Amino acid sequence: MSWLTELEARLTAIHAENRFRRRLVVDGPAAAEVTVGGQRLLSFCSNDYLGLANHPRVTAAFKGGCDEFGVGAGASHLITGHTRAHDALEVELAEFVGAPRALLFSTGYMANLAVASALLDRHDLVVEDRLNHASLIDAGLLTRARLRRYPHGDTAAASRLLTGRCGRGLIMTDGVFSMDGDVAPVAALASVCRRQDAALVVDDAHGFGVLGDTGAGTLEHAAQPIRWPVVMMGTLGKALGTFGAFIAADAVVIETLIQRARTYIYTTAPPPAIAAATHAALKVLKDEPGRRQKVLEHVNRFRTGARQLDLPLFDSVTPIQPILVGDSGAAVSLSRALRERGFLIPAIRPPTVPAGSARLRVTFSAAHDAGHVDRLLDALASVHAPVAGAGGGG
Ligand SMILES: *Cc1c(COP(=O)(O)O)cnc(C)c1O
Repeated sequence: MSWLTELEARLTAIHAENRFRRRLVVDGPAAAEVTVGGQRLLSFCSNDYLGLANHPRVTAAFKGGCDEFGVGAGASHLITGHTRAHDALEVELAEFVGAPRALLFSTGYMANLAVASALLDRHDLVVEDRLNHASLIDAGLLTRARLRRYPHGDTAAASRLLTGRCGRGLIMTDGVFSMDGDVAPVAALASVCRRQDAALVVDDAHGFGVLGDTGAGTLEHAAQPIRWPVVMMGTLGKALGTFGAFIAADAVVIETLIQRARTYIYTTAPPPAIAAATHAALKVLKDEPGRRQKVLEHVNRFRTGARQLDLPLFDSVTPIQPILVGDSGAAVSLSRALRERGFLIPAIRPPTVPAGSARLRVTFSAAHDAGHVDRLLDALASVHAPVAGAGGGG
C-alpha cells in the first residue's frame, strides 16, 4: 500500500469508531456566546474559567505591551528574548503562588516536558496517575527514565511503585483532572514523596486561578507549600485567559530547568506583550475575587439542577462538570442535539478518555450568568440526556 492509501484507511477507521475530530471555525473572542458559521451558540466548553480572555484591562495591557516591545521576542530566553516584562511576571507569579521562584514557558505542554527531562536521567523512575493529561504522559515518555502508571488517585499504589527503585523517583499528576474535574490527592502524594525521597510535580492547568483561598490553585487548596519535593506547573491559557505556562519551585529546580530543559533553551521566548497581558490578568484576578466566586456558584447551581434530572455527574467541585454517557456514538448524538438547540458542548471520546467512558464535557466560566446555567439544564432535560444508574458503559 502507498503511504497515502494507508493514511486514508486509518482515517476511515477513526470515522468508523466515531472518533473523527473536526475543528469549529469561531468568529469573535472567547465568550459565553460564540458565533460559529453564523450561528450564535451558548458555549460550555472553554477553559476561560474567569472570563479574562477578552477582559478590557487584559486586552489593553496586551496592546500596550505591543507598543512597548513589538510583537515577537526575537530570540530565546537565553539569548535576547527575555524582556523586563517576562522577568517581572516571573517574580509576580512566584509571589502569587508562594514559591521561591517561577520560570515562564511558551506552553504547558512544553513546561511538562521540561520538568520531567530536567529532573530525571536514564536510570530514574517516573510514576503517573492513569488519567494524567497527555502532556504529562509524553513528558514521562520523553525522559529516558522508566514510566509506570498507577490507578486513578491511588496514592498507596504510587507509593508501592516507588518502593525499592534504584535512581531518583518522580510522581507527576494533574492537580485537577482535565476530563473528570476531580482534584488529585496532592497532600497524600506529597507525603509519599517525602517518605520515599521522591519529587512531586503537580500540573495545575485547571486549578490555578480557580482553587484555593486566593486562586493560587490545587496546592493552596490542599495547604501544600511549593517547596521541595513539591513542584507546580501552572498554565496561563486557561483561567488567566492569556497564553503560556510557568513552573514554580525552589531556586535550584528553576536554575536546573534553565540549564537543562531543551523545551526552554531551544525555542523562541513567548511574545513580551503576552507577559504584559498576563500581568494585567493576574491583577484582575486579585482585584475581583468575585469572578472565582461566580464560577463556583454556577458549578453549585448546575450540580443541584443536574441531580434533580438524575444526570450521571462526576465527583467534581471544579468548573469541569462532565456528564457520563459511555458510548461514543451516543455522546456524539447528544452533542449534536444540543448544538441544534444552540448549545456548544463537546463529546469527549476515547482515546482522550478510557474506552466506554465517552462523556459530554461541560465547563463553566465567570462569563456565564445564572440564566445560562438554567438554559443549559432545560436543554439537557429536553435531549433525554443519560440518567444515573441507567448503564451507558458500552
Ligand atoms: C491544557 C493543559 C496542558 C497544556 O497547557 P498548554 O499551555 O495549553 O500547552 C497541560 N496539562 C493539562 C492538565 C492541561 O489541561
